[in-house]
Amino acid sequence: MTLALDSHTALNPRSVSGDRLRKLVVERTGDPVLAHEAHVVSQVLPFKVSSYVVDELIDWDRAPDDPIYRLTFPHRDMLEPEHFAVIEQAVVQGDRAGIRKAADAVRGSLNPHPGDQMSMNVPQHDDIDGSGMQHKYAETLLVFPRQGQTCHSYCGYCFRWAQFVDQADLRMAVSGPEAMTRYLDRHPMITDVLLTGGDPLVMRTDLLASYLEPLLEPEREHVDTVRIGTKAVSFWPYRLLAGPEADSVLRLLERLTAAGKHVAVMLHLSHVAELQTDVAKAALARLASTGAVLRAQAPVVRHVNDDPRAWADLWQAQVRHNVVPYYMFVERDTGARPYYGLPLARAYDIYREALQQVSGLGRTARGPVMSASPGKVVIDGVVELDGGRAFALRYLQARNPQMVGRPFFAVYDEQAQWWDELRPYGPRDREFFGGLS
Ligand SMILES: *Cc1c(COP(=O)(O)O)cnc(C)c1O
Ligand code: SF4
Repeated sequence: MTLALDSHTALNPRSVSGDRLRKLVVERTGDPVLAHEAHVVSQVLPFKVSSYVVDELIDWDRAPDDPIYRLTFPHRDMLEPEHFAVIEQAVVQGDRAGIRKAADAVRGSLNPHPGDQMSMNVPQHDDIDGSGMQHKYAETLLVFPRQGQTCHSYCGYCFRWAQFVDQADLRMAVSGPEAMTRYLDRHPMITDVLLTGGDPLVMRTDLLASYLEPLLEPEREHVDTVRIGTKAVSFWPYRLLAGPEADSVLRLLERLTAAGKHVAVMLHLSHVAELQTDVAKAALARLASTGAVLRAQAPVVRHVNDDPRAWADLWQAQVRHNVVPYYMFVERDTGARPYYGLPLARAYDIYREALQQVSGLGRTARGPVMSASPGKVVIDGVVELDGGRAFALRYLQARNPQMVGRPFFAVYDEQAQWWDELRPYGPRDREFFGGLS
């Protein structure tokens, strides 16, 4: 199915969510059980998919095994069997209040706000509302514009899933640029501003500009680098291709680079399929033409990209399209982790085997990285020490800068999937775990 051209010039796509999910899956796959199960899970976890993802990215002949289907569509294995059963029963009974009550209870057990983000990273000031900003590492300020706290489609593994469920609960969002500019003026050590979400490119360009243009004023000269985190190239490339909103966003990026800022578009790219359509390639070329540097990051997750060949193909395609591989993340301990999660040992094997298949230009992603409460921890390897097997680890970023860049060890655990399951290998490693043993 091809969309009419005028829908391609829209700021945001037509999308499918809610009760239309079941109908869509039946229509495209002819599998009513798959559709029913997706509907059940979507009572708990957010679902939204753009017309572009449905019509041009997913290979429906391969669903549910198509990687982009796995990335975006709910599946029964995303919930523990007992949770699935409770929700399914409420759905079959068809009582809305009952469904909501059961869904809220299940969500509460899925660690909706991982990594202490709510409590530990929000700047505290008497006269600046810090909600909607995170200042965890000295040089970088994360800004979450209120109007950018959604995406063109949702990834099933998103660690911000909780805020998509209840749009009123945007505790992690700034209502306008003033809080950001006042905070920056008080903190001249900040060199990097990172606009994130959700996806800031769901916003109209004039709103986006209201956050970015103040960074060009002399008071914000200390801000060298502006990063914009987005998955628009994968979920709605037309945002960058057609119509006045696309042209104006490119002009905005050009103004920033012409003024001497380093602009980095941090693309969320999970699978090479996202780079294979003509529109995605055209969107990348237009972004690069602004003078912005394109970088890419994504988590390594089961069902989507848990395979060295998938990462080698992804990195190679990134290099071909002027995108620098930046991070391979580990899936966080939240939401649908039963479905997407991988043991750290497996993530490391995938990373290493993928590196072996690409040239040096494709080897620039650091990983696998856990963005955990004390900092960004990379797994450098699995080593045999005198006292037994260990993970070799290193902080890429830390709340305490003294920790950065020093190798340390954790007891090897074949099943461990996250930082909090790891233990110091020896007494000298304890300081890296916050002094805990
Ligand atoms: C990853 C991250 C950053 C950016 O770190 P870089 O090493 O500069 O990529 C900044 N703030 C937070 C909270 C992060 O998680
Ligand atoms: S694009 Fe990013 S913020 Fe949006 S749903 Fe996917 S992981 Fe979440």
